[in-house]
Amino acid sequence: MSKQYRYRINHIYPPAFAVVNGQRYLFPGWIPVEDDVTFEDVEHINPYANLRKETFQVKGSSGNSYTVTRRENTFTCDCPAGKFRGQCKHINLIKEQQQ
Ligand SMILES: [Zn+2]
Repeated sequence: MSKQYRYRINHIYPPAFAVVNGQRYLFPGWIPVEDDVTFEDVEHINPYANLRKETFQVKGSSGNSYTVTRRENTFTCDCPAGKFRGQCKHINLIKEQQQ
């Protein structure tokens, strides 16, 4: 049996409750809720968590191995140039292979 949620939060931040002027709200979004609503009633969907993530190991010219990570059309690399400039030969190599 699947769980029935009363609310759905589609946000990178997790849900939170706050009372403002006697009215209880669910955040983010300023959704007015009854006093009996708990975190159990709220489904949290992190849109970033749903992005497809792929990682590739690339051997550098110095013999070191670097990790290139792809999230949709964004590539990152953990080599010094990739971290500093966001662009490096490892990323270029993977981009060429992906086309
Ligand atoms: Zn790199």
